[in-house]
Amino acid sequence: MTYDEFVKKFAEAAESVGDTVGKAANSAVKKGGELAEIAKLTLQKNNARQERDRRLISLGSLVYGAHAGAELCEEDMEKLYAELDSLTDKIEKLDEKIAKLRNTKTCPGCGRSVAKDYGYCPACGAKFEK
Ligand SMILES: [Zn+2]
Repeated sequence: MTYDEFVKKFAEAAESVGDTVGKAANSAVKKGGELAEIAKLTLQKNNARQERDRRLISLGSLVYGAHAGAELCEEDMEKLYAELDSLTDKIEKLDEKIAKLRNTKTCPGCGRSVAKDYGYCPACGAKFEK
C-alpha cells in the first residue's frame, strides 16, 4: 500500500466511524425524546386518574347521601357520569400512546403492560390475538 492509498483508506475508515457515532448519537437523542414524552404522558395519565378518583368519591357521596335520606340530584349524577366517561376515555388513550412508545401492549386479561412480541401474558397467562 502506498502512502496515498493509506491516507485514503484511513480517511474512509474515519468517515465511517464518524457516521456510526453520528447515528448512535441521533438514536440516543431520539431515545431521550421518547423517554421525556413517556414521562409527560404518564404525568397526564396520573392527573386524569386523580381527577377520576375525586369524581368517584363525589359520586359515592351522592349515592350514600341518597341512602341516608338526602334527595338525589339527577343532574349532578349525569354530569359526574359524563365527566367520568370522558376521563376514562382520556386515560385509555394515554395508555395506548405510552404503550406504543414503550413498544408494549396492554393485556386484556389483567391490564398489565407486556412486550409487544409476546404471544401470552407472563402475568396471567392470557393468550394474545396475533
Ligand atoms: Zn395478563
